[in-house]
Amino acid sequence: MPRVKIDRHSMAEQDAAVRVGNFQEVPFGYDAEQAMAEASRCLQCKTPTCMDGCPVEVDIRSFLLAVEAGKFADAIGIIKNTNGLPAICGRVCPQETQCEEQCLLGKKKRPVAIGNLERFLADWERGQNGSNGDAKSAPAARNGHRIAIVGSGPAGLTCAADLARMGYDVTIFEAFHKAGGVLIYGIPEFRLPKSIVQAEVDYVASMGVEFRYNHVIGKLDTVDELLEQGYSAVFVGTGAGLPYFMGLPGENAIGIYSANEYLTRSNLMRAYDFPNADTPVLRGDRVAVIGGGNVAMDAARTALRLGSREVSLVYRRSREEMPARNEEIHHAEQEGVRFEYLCAPTRFESDENGWARGMTCVRMQLGEPDDSGRRRPVVIEGSEFFLPADVIVVAIGNGPNPLIAQTTADIATTKRGTIRADKFGRTSKKGVYAGGDIVLGAATVILAMGAGKSAARAIDRDLRGIPDPVEDEPAATA
Ligand SMILES: Cc1cc2nc3c(=O)[nH]c(=O)nc-3n(C[C@H](O)[C@H](O)[C@H](O)COP(=O)(O)OP(=O)(O)OC[C@H]3O[C@@H](n4cnc5c(N)ncnc54)[C@H](O)[C@@H]3O)c2cc1C
Repeated sequence: MPRVKIDRHSMAEQDAAVRVGNFQEVPFGYDAEQAMAEASRCLQCKTPTCMDGCPVEVDIRSFLLAVEAGKFADAIGIIKNTNGLPAICGRVCPQETQCEEQCLLGKKKRPVAIGNLERFLADWERGQNGSNGDAKSAPAARNGHRIAIVGSGPAGLTCAADLARMGYDVTIFEAFHKAGGVLIYGIPEFRLPKSIVQAEVDYVASMGVEFRYNHVIGKLDTVDELLEQGYSAVFVGTGAGLPYFMGLPGENAIGIYSANEYLTRSNLMRAYDFPNADTPVLRGDRVAVIGGGNVAMDAARTALRLGSREVSLVYRRSREEMPARNEEIHHAEQEGVRFEYLCAPTRFESDENGWARGMTCVRMQLGEPDDSGRRRPVVIEGSEFFLPADVIVVAIGNGPNPLIAQTTADIATTKRGTIRADKFGRTSKKGVYAGGDIVLGAATVILAMGAGKSAARAIDRDLRGIPDPVEDEPAATA
């Protein structure tokens, strides 16, 4: 059959009614046959555009060709030349606005399921040897330079892996007791199992990268002290872990959480398994989640799994403007989350003992587009109503973690508190680089990885005295 005639292959999923009762992953993934059939949809374009949409420069056309031929070991090898976290990217990357958006097939039909195939290969490799591989390609010859990475999220892990591959001795300092950043403490198990993040962290460790946990830079050592201790460069990948609140009356009632706290308690600290695990979380009979991004979707779906009877997601625009991935919205709808579109809280209400009992909300309509290009929500006069809820989760965004900026001399920041860095990740301070959410504000896994990769190359060039590539020249591969 001609390639363009083959329909895109969907992944089988846990039934919605069953999965709300567990934290297991929702899609099951492709089997080998489905993967080969899906890869055979690739048009093998002479000048493929899909790669332009991949911030970590995966050679997509070549890996798809290898999958089509059933050469899975070759295919995963091709991906891992530039991407050390394929099982993660295959699950949470917004492919629909990255590689798949650029797929030529997408002009007529649905694009090749590049993300699903990446996930298949990473899982296939783990199925072969119980891990996401060991880094046989890491060079034995070290170059004598030590590099410190602050934060073990996707930015830090990618920067570390690329530098280790180039021969640097890399140490990651992580504030938490586990590596992975948001991948481990934010994104729930049903979207990204912890064992999969751990397997990819282990892969980075197998390159010789050292991890120091419970090590908060800015408290234990400062960035300046790391440089004094002989690190040739420091990469700051501390993310955007500072939750924003709404600043509305009554916001400090008992039962009102930031999404960060709610998800960290449930995910990393296993509150869902209380009292077998130490950390509790309020379950709530009726839960309201405020926001419309992936974080809000994760919080609402977690609330259902914690046993809440009714979960409402309150968003001030319409479904069309929602920033969450379509797949996440769809899964939340299937699972029974109630969507209150064009709705915004104005006041949180609590009982005489200070426990949240709901919020006063107003209805909105959409006006002219604002700075973000999305239509501005405008309050409908007289539309006030009461939305009952005993647990409320605020998921309206996160800001940059301020500790490094506060404790590092001469590091320039923006008005929003993000660290200023050029396109290669250089900050205003010599020897200090930054990337990911700490520079971009809350963004995506793949952009954080791309920033980690650019910074690794810049660190290497600076230490070897090599100039940056000129504009339009393809960047060197790691
Ligand atoms: C709930 C949730 C769901 C998301 N879903 C998606 C999704 O589906 N797809 C997607 O692409 N993106 C998603 N994102 C966004 C994505 O996770 C982030 O853009 C990405 O993780 C940023 O990576 P990072 O490495 O910059 O920072 P982070 O992942 O935030 O990692 C930063 C790390 O630095 C550590 N740290 C901070 N300060 C210090 C310090 N002073 N010393 C030592 N360590 C420190 C932190 O503990 C953390 O481990 C989601 C975000 C959240 C919160």
